[in-house]
Amino acid sequence: MLAPYTEAAEGGPLLALGARSLALFDAFVNGIEADSRVAVGYERSGTLHVARAEQTLAHFASMHEGLAQLGVPSELLSPAAAHAYEPNLTADIFGGLLLPTQGLISAPGLTQAMVDAAQRRGAMLRPQANATRIRRSGARVAIDTDHGTIEADAVVLACGAWSGQVDVEGASGAVPVRPVRGQLLHLGWHGPHVARITWDEHCYLVPWRDGTLLVGATVEDAGFEEQTTVAGVRQLLEAVCDLLPNASRATLLSARVGLRPGSPDPLPIIGWSEAVPGLMYATGHYRNGVLLAPLTAHLVADAIVDGRIDDALAVTSPARFGLL
Ligand SMILES: Cc1cc2nc3c(=O)[nH]c(=O)nc-3n(C[C@H](O)[C@H](O)[C@H](O)COP(=O)(O)OP(=O)(O)OC[C@H]3O[C@@H](n4cnc5c(N)ncnc54)[C@H](O)[C@@H]3O)c2cc1C
Repeated sequence: MLAPYTEAAEGGPLLALGARSLALFDAFVNGIEADSRVAVGYERSGTLHVARAEQTLAHFASMHEGLAQLGVPSELLSPAAAHAYEPNLTADIFGGLLLPTQGLISAPGLTQAMVDAAQRRGAMLRPQANATRIRRSGARVAIDTDHGTIEADAVVLACGAWSGQVDVEGASGAVPVRPVRGQLLHLGWHGPHVARITWDEHCYLVPWRDGTLLVGATVEDAGFEEQTTVAGVRQLLEAVCDLLPNASRATLLSARVGLRPGSPDPLPIIGWSEAVPGLMYATGHYRNGVLLAPLTAHLVADAIVDGRIDDALAVTSPARFGLL
């Protein structure tokens, strides 16, 4: 989901980063599709938020007001209007909020297209090389891996939830990224097409053009255990059947799991290392790593290639967590 106004509804720097990244998406996807010749699967079909409790309406009203002040369109909906946008909804709703500029992208599609685009521009992938240590090597940076050492003028540490497992020479500690498990269901949907991302207080639904539906997501502190659980699957099944009664006729294609890279505050960790010159961090994106991909790419590339330090790096700097 590309949903900065939902993910950072309270405002602050995360909203600014997310909104800025969302604005980069059209050009980002066009560039990657042109380079890779792969269609990514991207649409700005909006998000529909549904209130299942009366008190959620007050939250929607304050979001609507805050968004209007930012010039971001949104529409408060009566129950009937919410049903008109999404006829699959349960009758048991109090109203809704439509945010027409948010959207969705296929994360596997984007990743594959980026790999293809990078390789066409000369990038080499070393999928087996697990980085263990990053250190100075004269004026360069060395990465020790379990398949030998690689040297470079600049290195980006972007190992997601595992970033803290790479030892950085001279750092006061590991970069403070922790794994936050998320389970998702992939359903074969047989009812009328779900038009856009639909969200209530218990789950969200992402409809794909192939007619399938993703149902997300749990938020769990389970260390590095990347497994689905009966409790997680049950929670999501109950939530989706409660929101869309037709879901009981859907087929369960798979249950998926991933680890979000959580940082101690809601912000990602992007910026130069003070411990190893030439090393840059790009991690800790938590729930918004796909949304923040275009902005992160610009911030990192501008700093490394052009020596340009964007103002956004002031709030994302790794230095807020010590000598990293
Ligand atoms: C269920 C779920 C739903 C989500 N929904 C959304 C959403 O709707 N919108 C959104 O924007 N974000 C979403 N996210 C968050 C998003 O997926 C993450 O923020 C994003 O994947 C982080 O990207 P990353 O490249 O930093 O880390 P990752 O995608 O985790 O990639 C890290 C890579 O580093 C590799 N690696 C790890 N250790 C090493 C090592 N030592 N050496 C070499 N390589 C290593 C890993 O194998 C992996 O390939 C969701 C996450 C989950 C789990």
